[in-house]
Amino acid sequence: MTLKRTSHSCFNSESRPKSGRINLPVAPNCNIQCNYCNRKFDCLNENRPEVISKVLSPQQALYHLEKAMTLSQNIAVVGITGPGDPFANPDETMETLRLVRKKYPEMALCISTNGLDLLPYIDELARLQVSHVTITINAIDPKIGAEIYSWVRYNKKMYRDVVAAKLLINKQLESLTKLKEAGVTAKVNSTIIPGINDIHVITVASKVAELGADILQCFPFYNTKEIVFENLTEPSAEMVQEIQDVTSKFIPQMKHYVLSNADETMRLKLAKSSALPAKTVEYRPYIAVSSMEGIMINQHLGEAERFLIYGMNDTGKCILVSARKAPQAGGGEQRWKELAETLKDCQTVLVSGVGNSPKKVLNSHGIKVFVLEGVIKEIVGGIFSGQDLQELIKRSQIHTGSSQCSGTGKKCG
Ligand code: SF4
Repeated sequence: MTLKRTSHSCFNSESRPKSGRINLPVAPNCNIQCNYCNRKFDCLNENRPEVISKVLSPQQALYHLEKAMTLSQNIAVVGITGPGDPFANPDETMETLRLVRKKYPEMALCISTNGLDLLPYIDELARLQVSHVTITINAIDPKIGAEIYSWVRYNKKMYRDVVAAKLLINKQLESLTKLKEAGVTAKVNSTIIPGINDIHVITVASKVAELGADILQCFPFYNTKEIVFENLTEPSAEMVQEIQDVTSKFIPQMKHYVLSNADETMRLKLAKSSALPAKTVEYRPYIAVSSMEGIMINQHLGEAERFLIYGMNDTGKCILVSARKAPQAGGGEQRWKELAETLKDCQTVLVSGVGNSPKKVLNSHGIKVFVLEGVIKEIVGGIFSGQDLQELIKRSQIHTGSSQCSGTGKKCG
């Protein structure tokens, strides 16, 4: 069932047009500090420089994948590469892999990690038929490693200097050995850092080849500034070529770069997915609004005769999808249950006021209720693109009501 190395887009440049890959950013934290990493951006070990991904919950990631599959039929590989380290967030990472495997039994799964916390998960990775794992190994000599890593956090304890590097390197090499025993294709990434590990990368290549690694990718160090190594120069193309030539005597090389999630449409999809409730298992693509004239959010929930339903189209634009009749006034709690049913595909309702009873019923049906006033398209568009609601409110300088109803409450019966 698993894809062969030759058909994986990360391992073979010729397969890229046929076999697309998508990264699911479910892992925000990291358990080490590389001196070339600027935490403002995604993990540099397997992502393009200066990219910032929105973090998704496992459910949001599955939704994102489903949408991406409708856009691009050739997605055959799903990767988890960050934005931090997948195994510094093992629950989210493993849950995402389980969900994807269940929904897409034929999908190739891959992971990229610094390897510190990988070991305990290798058996399940093999069971889930994760076919490819990448470990970034920049040094096998702890003294050189100590220059590359500021700290390592393992089992809730901080380590520094040579002790930290030794711990990390041991875990990386143990994991590599176990991956090969489990039959998983193992790629090693090495970052070429001039004056720190450039020559040493050759020793790394020789060691990982001995342990059975399948392929090596030597990355040039990329200076993103505001990093410990900000005064180092990036390696020349000649240096990179020379190191690749020498290391290729030990192990096959990967020389192309995979630009996952680079497509703008895919980025908009990612924003839309990240705006969904983190734990929802239902498809809730819409936001409902209570408005008197259709421009402002300016009506109490209990006074609305109809709700305006907004969604996001494939170009990322906020659009009015429909207007839905509100249930008749009266009837107590039953009225709010009917409203919850009417709005069951909405993640949020935006109103200028709400009573406790309807709020409780809607919340219990998984619909969030926000009390505020402002321009509909500005607020709804902001929520869909993943902006923070409080920030949106501040920026628009609009009035935010309390979560309690500021009206008479007469219409909330
Ligand atoms: S592994 Fe290194 S490069 Fe990746 S997020 Fe952690 S510190 Fe940054």
